[in-house]
Amino acid sequence: MIDTKKFYINGAWVAPISDREMEVIDPSTEQVCGTIAIGNQADTDAAVAAAKAAFDDWSQTPKARRIVLLKKFLTVYQARNEEMGRAISLEMGAPIDMALTSQAESGSEHTEGLIEELEKFEFERALNDSAPNDRIIYEAIGVCALITPWNWPMNQVSLKAIAAMAAGCTMVLKPSEIAPLSSLVFADMVHEAGIPAGVFNMVNGDGAGVGSHLTSHPDVDMVSFTGSTRAGALISKNAADTVKRVALELGGKGANIVFADADEKAIERGIYHCFGNSGQSCNAPTRMLVERSFYDQAVVMAKAAAAKVQVGRATEHGNHIGPVVSELQYNKIQALIKVGIDEGANVAVGGLGKPQGLETGYFVKPTIFTDVNNDMQIAREEVFGPVLCMIPFDTEEQAIAIANDTVFGLTNYIQTQDSAKANRVARRLRSGMVQMNGTFRSAGAPFGGYKQSGNGREGGVWGLEDFLEVKSISGWSND
Ligand code: NAD
Repeated sequence: MIDTKKFYINGAWVAPISDREMEVIDPSTEQVCGTIAIGNQADTDAAVAAAKAAFDDWSQTPKARRIVLLKKFLTVYQARNEEMGRAISLEMGAPIDMALTSQAESGSEHTEGLIEELEKFEFERALNDSAPNDRIIYEAIGVCALITPWNWPMNQVSLKAIAAMAAGCTMVLKPSEIAPLSSLVFADMVHEAGIPAGVFNMVNGDGAGVGSHLTSHPDVDMVSFTGSTRAGALISKNAADTVKRVALELGGKGANIVFADADEKAIERGIYHCFGNSGQSCNAPTRMLVERSFYDQAVVMAKAAAAKVQVGRATEHGNHIGPVVSELQYNKIQALIKVGIDEGANVAVGGLGKPQGLETGYFVKPTIFTDVNNDMQIAREEVFGPVLCMIPFDTEEQAIAIANDTVFGLTNYIQTQDSAKANRVARRLRSGMVQMNGTFRSAGAPFGGYKQSGNGREGGVWGLEDFLEVKSISGWSND
């Protein structure tokens, strides 16, 4: 049984130095479902010191040894997938079937993917054929601070921690204080897998405390952060004095451009993708841009698709959506729905308040605004709830302009059966990812954004390289 009030430092579960605690709330019931310790500067210092002490050995560990250990970790993770899924479901409200599959399994899938990249990766090579005495060596960057959000907890933690371990880095994870239970399980899996002491450390805490201590710590070389653009900007400033590398995975306001020649499932697909995980995905297609000649029909189709989306408690089986994560998020979403109404957007589905029969718990009505224009606040701000804006457009150029008219640039979507048009538009979209006609990115593809959606790339070889330094040596002897 994991003691949720302990931290994982230097290969052992340790009592916190700080005496602050925080309750974890089950968003389906509003009841306390756990208590964690909130670390302070001394707790952070202890974890960073352990990571620093472990760095020399771990960074020099042969790649083959790291692969063996990560494979052991993968076996442990797969064996404990149910425990992981239950922790995620409880802490952030993902319905249990989804928590056990997409949410929990994202951790093992990313581990598998990163092991494959590590197996292929050449840490040393010549600069090129005509410069055999120039050696390029990729080396672990050092001690990494990993700071993660609550919405896809294991997706984020595994993309960072496994990539960092594969690269030879040591680390301190500070998971979201809203959803810390899954990371406690993750730390216990690291322990069971026999990853050497000090390589992976975990301290719970909030952004202002452990988060800030880590991002300004003189012994931390890199910060890998996933979360809001607001916190990303603060972290960059905090890390600047010690010139850390800062990899950021931030918010989004994805456009889903639906041309009149889209396939018949395009609207339904867009609705389900937007409302999935209760709208709490950074890559959610929250602005549906529809070609005007097809717009009225698309609204009818969107309403029909939304009518099939059920809302329910996280403990219930089924493919419904759960609550949003917290009272704070619930209130923020309600306030933005109110803004949308006041701005003159039309509520075609949902609206303010809780769905009938779900008065307890942070449940939000799946909501579709029609007749939105891209200058409205609901089209510009990340709502992070099941709220879709439908915006008409007249020409391909206008669709591209509206899609790009945002501070974000994470994922955009295109729906058309004209493949030349799809490719043409994809090149023009200012985002790290473009998904066309519902085709998912393959394993090994990079995840990350342009503009205020961040600067890092996770997954695939890019996810590994984010944690590496490049050393250039001249006069290398090949004898
Ligand atoms: P958040 O920014 O409030 O918190 C994320 C993490 O940062 C938490 O662990 C928090 O404690 C910590 N933190 C907050 N302020 C900090 C500070 N000043 N210094 C150091 N750490 C700090 O975000 P959230 O509400 O947990 O998550 C939702 C956000 O995450 C959304 O904006 C979403 O789009 C984004 N997100 C992005 C991606 C991506 O890959 N681009 C993936 C998932 C979520």
